[in-house]
Amino acid sequence: MKKPIRVAVTGPAGNIGYSLLFRIAAGDMFGPDQPVILQLLDRASPESQQKVTGVMMELDDCAFPLLAGLENSPEATTAFRDADVALLVGARPRSKGMERADLLNANAEIFVAQGRALNEAASRDCKVLVVGNPCNTNAWIAMKSAPDLKPENFTSMLRLDQNRLMAQTATQAKVSVNDITHAAVWGNHSPAMFPDLDHALIKGRPALELVDRSYYQETMTPIVAKRGSAIIEARGASSAASAASAAIDHIRDWVLGSGDRWVTMGVPSDGSYGIPEGLLFGFPCTTKDGRWEIVQGLELSDFARATIAKSVAELESERAHVAALLG
Ligand code: NDP
Repeated sequence: MKKPIRVAVTGPAGNIGYSLLFRIAAGDMFGPDQPVILQLLDRASPESQQKVTGVMMELDDCAFPLLAGLENSPEATTAFRDADVALLVGARPRSKGMERADLLNANAEIFVAQGRALNEAASRDCKVLVVGNPCNTNAWIAMKSAPDLKPENFTSMLRLDQNRLMAQTATQAKVSVNDITHAAVWGNHSPAMFPDLDHALIKGRPALELVDRSYYQETMTPIVAKRGSAIIEARGASSAASAASAAIDHIRDWVLGSGDRWVTMGVPSDGSYGIPEGLLFGFPCTTKDGRWEIVQGLELSDFARATIAKSVAELESERAHVAALLG
């Protein structure tokens, strides 16, 4: 039996948490022979803790063979103790009338505290995925608050955006998602993102031979970028199972390797493509041996550059706002 991987998950009683935990425990994240220990962190309020208790009861009732342990604590340092992977899903949602600055402030407080707790308690090689929005900036805050951990191990989730791009492309070109490679999304997980089909291939041929370029730029790009709002409109609640599925994809590919496939990850920029260094930015990446690399040498069209610049501006403004709070 392999040594269990310790996976800390915040927001376990939330919508995404409820989809995510069962799939991790079933083996979807690390494979069918890898045991896991789940370490849950939710807020300390009696209501939150009662909900977590219910989720834990259901996890018990599944009798998952790979679930080697199940722990819960409202204390971040306890929940993050020796964590090999941390999925930071819980975040302060935007409530009615809340200004963007208030949202950034509220989440900065959460992610400073969680970054510090990771720094104190997690495995020195802990891989962190921030799902809670604004995920790129929250990941940047956590990274800055954990100076003893590896900065490259702080990532944000843009995989859902890549999956949405692939699904839209498959529908439009009437092919299977399995036929599509090298589709990626650049930038912020926000409507400013750049869904990139310029380098994508369908059965080895340029995707834009099968998808009309003006449809891609004028229709598909906004569909992908605003898909989150469309889901809320249709479902009356934000994406949950698809977000959980993307989190599984993100960590699985990071830990087990992507092979030749490109995977979109929000990672601290190394200056590639002129993206300011340190900015948590969505890039096409490949992964091997638990490490990611940004795909290099891609030609970016004027359309791509102009769209990517919007994400840079947005993320730099968020970073400047929260940097002032970090002191
Ligand atoms: P929910 O509101 O359903 O769940 C969030 C959970 O997090 C709640 O149980 C909440 O507890 C908990 N929580 C809040 N603050 C903390 C904290 N400081 N520590 C631990 N737990 C906390 O939200 P969802 O599950 O639907 O979404 C979670 C996040 O994921 C949101 O920020 C959402 O915007 C984001 N998201 C990101 C996507 C991406 O692609 N990056 C896609 C979809 C969603 P309580 O109930 O007590 O408040």
